[in-house]
Amino acid sequence: MNTPQAIRGTQDIFGAEAEAFAHVVETFERVRKLYRFRRIEMPVFEKTEVFSRSIGETTDVVSKEMYSFEDRGGESLTLRPEFTAGICRAYLTNGWQQHAPLKVATHGPLFRYERPQKGRYRQFHQLDAEILGAGEPQADVELLVLADQLLKELGIADGVTLMLNTLGDAESRDAWRAALVEYFRAVKAELSEDSQDRLERNPLRILDSKDPRDQAFVADAPRIDDFLSSEAQDFFGKVTSGLDAAGVAWTRAPSLVRGLDYYRHTAFEFVTDRLGAQGTVLGGGRYDGLMESLGGPFTPAVGWAAGIERLAMLVGDRFPHAEVSVAILPESDDLEAKAAAIAALLRREGISCWTAFRQNPKKRNAKARSEIAMASSDGVYAALYVRSGEIPSQEFKITSVSETEAELRLSRRVMQILGEDKFGL
Ligand code: ATP
Ligand code: MG
Repeated sequence: MNTPQAIRGTQDIFGAEAEAFAHVVETFERVRKLYRFRRIEMPVFEKTEVFSRSIGETTDVVSKEMYSFEDRGGESLTLRPEFTAGICRAYLTNGWQQHAPLKVATHGPLFRYERPQKGRYRQFHQLDAEILGAGEPQADVELLVLADQLLKELGIADGVTLMLNTLGDAESRDAWRAALVEYFRAVKAELSEDSQDRLERNPLRILDSKDPRDQAFVADAPRIDDFLSSEAQDFFGKVTSGLDAAGVAWTRAPSLVRGLDYYRHTAFEFVTDRLGAQGTVLGGGRYDGLMESLGGPFTPAVGWAAGIERLAMLVGDRFPHAEVSVAILPESDDLEAKAAAIAALLRREGISCWTAFRQNPKKRNAKARSEIAMASSDGVYAALYVRSGEIPSQEFKITSVSETEAELRLSRRVMQILGEDKFGL
């Protein structure tokens, strides 16, 4: 019988890549606590309308990327392609308004039917941070400072640039939209088929097109700045001065729009040229109109999401992950139980132990050493041989490879625990 293959666009992540992935998530968890963003857990699927009503019918995500299906009750459900819409649905259905302004964070898998390539998958993972029920530009600033600190703590801020734009308020946006339609209509025949289609329905989308036929015209397209109301200008001014005050570098990107329709005012992406075509690692903005599209009251909010796989690729193996571990090596089969008891004792004391279930001590030692060296070249390592004997000095022999100060300290600590405990054997 042949073995079923994994679904196209999904990944089985193992080894150094899995460690980098975990490091990204752990760093995010630590940093979001510094900003007191509360952890939430969200369902992986929602009613299809949660996404179709909020993200916009003419966006790529809704028109061609969603995994939607009918369940056995005949209801149309969708595997979440992003976090924000589900979080807004939860905010409304759970009465989280009482906590406003509410700062929340989550992470997990998302699903989009895309053409798989490096950095682009059908199941991928995001970090997500949102501030719900806050219309102040200071909320936008705080989210961007959080994103900036995250990238710095991951050690990948160099070569990643914050591209910042404003889409203005409803009034500014409508005027800009009309100017874009007029501008692109004049060159309609030269645009891509997709953009000809977008022209009347959703002209802002053309600015986000990756098709070179469209990009030739994007550079000279009308800019939002010529249409901003004074309120919208004032809002954007507070965002940029807040960033400057917090020491967060940014670059103005006047044709930046996001792949989803719900953004107002602030829109941003952190981009790099170190990942080829998939250069956006984090994106987001303000979405004051989203709650209303889900039938809720006007609720200003702002948020971002970052691709964990893309962040992990940037991190690579450049993070501190010194392994500290003791290999537990019984010298004969009848000492397996005693070796297991010692491993349990040391682990309860907070010492990482490597164990295996077969092979002689010499082979086990070699495997332990290669696995720890594989995980980190600067690993701290000791081998504890478990022997038969009556007094501790005969029962154990501990050795380390390079006898560094750290390895000697580890060995002393292990012998001290074993000497104190007598481990009830
Ligand atoms: P892109 O322009 O690369 O398609 P997007 O604008 O569709 O990205 P968002 O919906 O804003 O992306 O998602 C935020 C982040 O999630 C992206 O910046 C990226 O890092 C990551 N991301 C989005 N789609 C994928 C995917 N299919 N595979 C891997 N990561 C993704
Ligand atoms: Mg996309």
